[in-house]
Amino acid sequence: CGIVGYAGSRPALNIVVDGLRRLEYRGYDSAGVAILAGEGELVTEKRAGKLANLEKALADDTATGLAQGVTGIGHTRWATHGGPTDRNAHPHRSADGRVAVIHNGILENFARLRAELEAEGIEFTSETDTECAAHLLAAELRHLGSFDGDPAERLAEAMRRVCRRLEGAFTLLAVDSQAPGAVVGARRNSPLVVGCGETENYLASDVSAFIEHTRDAIELGQDQVVLITPAGVSVTDFHGTVVEGTRFHIDWDA
Ligand code: GLU
Repeated sequence: CGIVGYAGSRPALNIVVDGLRRLEYRGYDSAGVAILAGEGELVTEKRAGKLANLEKALADDTATGLAQGVTGIGHTRWATHGGPTDRNAHPHRSADGRVAVIHNGILENFARLRAELEAEGIEFTSETDTECAAHLLAAELRHLGSFDGDPAERLAEAMRRVCRRLEGAFTLLAVDSQAPGAVVGARRNSPLVVGCGETENYLASDVSAFIEHTRDAIELGQDQVVLITPAGVSVTDFHGTVVEGTRFHIDWDA
């Protein structure tokens, strides 16, 4: 029920978990994070129950580069498809492990997409509607393998292609282990705002997640994809046309 993303130069984990705490008031039954921890390493942790359960798992996880990563996403879930279990908690990884995806909302056509992916031999590990978006994103990234350009732009293009196939309501965020420093987001019928810093940028379902870091924000419109890196923010529609988000300054206390 809450979403946070960070692309910057400070350790992402604390920023993401603090952001999730600021969104706790929305209610949730599970929580999870994905951190780009270094050279192609993508680490995820997720737990049913309160944020404290996730934080305990994170504290126990000393083997990975979790604490060092400067790019990450976090999610609090309000289960709609599949019970509130560790496996159904977000992020969801693609079968090849390359991407991690978090989602608020409902993908109305997930059953058809899942059947199609299973027919291609993909094994699902959860009962969620969301997981199909992770597999679709990895498939689009593979198709774009020889994409001529930077990996962050390739991730944004793959997300646009996935969104064109999805029906329903979604705020989606994703990271790709082959696109260091980048978080991509998308929205339809579900909220997503951008927080703009000097050398870091944020994505969240609600400004309260990043208000202690920046008060410069961009409101996204319907059916838009946003790419954040430490250096900037770019917004397009689902077909790749560049659009201007609505900039605003948060001058109230959230
Ligand atoms: N439909 C997704 C699920 O049940 C996302 C729920 C949410 O908005 O948190 O996993």
